[in-house]
Amino acid sequence: MADVKCYACGKPAVIYRKYEGRGWCKEHFSLQLEKKVKMTIRKNRLIKPNDKICVAVSGGKDSSTLLYLMNKFFGKRPDIEICALAVDEGISGYRSESINEVKKLSKRLGVELVVVSFKKEFGMTLDQIVKKDYRPCTYCGVLRRYLLNKKSRELGATKLATGHNMDDEIQSIFINNLKGDINRLLRLGADPIIVNHPKFVHRIKPLRDVPEKEIALYALLHGINAHFGRCPYVKGGLRFEVRNFLNHIEEKYPGTKYNIVRNFDMLLPALRNYFKDGEKIRECSKCGEPTSREICKACELLKNIKG
Ligand SMILES: [Zn+2]
Ligand SMILES: [Zn+2]
Repeated sequence: MADVKCYACGKPAVIYRKYEGRGWCKEHFSLQLEKKVKMTIRKNRLIKPNDKICVAVSGGKDSSTLLYLMNKFFGKRPDIEICALAVDEGISGYRSESINEVKKLSKRLGVELVVVSFKKEFGMTLDQIVKKDYRPCTYCGVLRRYLLNKKSRELGATKLATGHNMDDEIQSIFINNLKGDINRLLRLGADPIIVNHPKFVHRIKPLRDVPEKEIALYALLHGINAHFGRCPYVKGGLRFEVRNFLNHIEEKYPGTKYNIVRNFDMLLPALRNYFKDGEKIRECSKCGEPTSREICKACELLKNIKG
């Protein structure tokens, strides 16, 4: 990078984008990234006056950068409130460290942080759950989403913002195609809600047009400390293989990832329109949370392990 200069000002570059054939300095790279996120927000009308934005934070670089940017863009707006919500699943040696990062960041930004735990909400940590039924990612994914929706609604949030980046999004596009899961495919996009239900907090993904590597660089340049540890339960799987495949293709054919996202965004409105009668949402007969089934997935899983 030493000999690459910023295309705009000639200062030393911090990034060189292969598909673009240009380098950018810290200042111009940061401006571009912020502009891109603002564009995603504006184009999809993600934030409205009087919104209360609840940012789901994990201590990782994506959600920490998201909290930083939401605060930078909207922190001074008198009509918009921002809070952070973290879920402590109870994964020993992993989650407590990342929660510490979240605490430091929200303190630095002056944003209210709420931490909810599996232990307190469900009576068991994820470590205890997997001893009864070893499907860590199933339990974690379902119960996390359940708590994020329920708690952000109880906090009065009108938007639940998650740190999904462009790479996550493309991986999900591929995975849902590989699995033939049309309902999940339709739930992608910056503004993933297609079903309206008063108990569903509107989910938004402001970073979904920014590549993972660029978020990591932005975090580094702006002193956004993140926890880089890996969840001990993550062991390969389909997402891992799709991720490697996409990175390999991007390396060989720069710009491919952008093409995939752009193409998907052009198809999505038509797909959603065609499949609009897909899922009917009602309330779980056990806990009252919104679901497409008689008993929600969280209640079903909890019944499994509690007998
Ligand atoms: Zn520059
Ligand atoms: Zn339920």
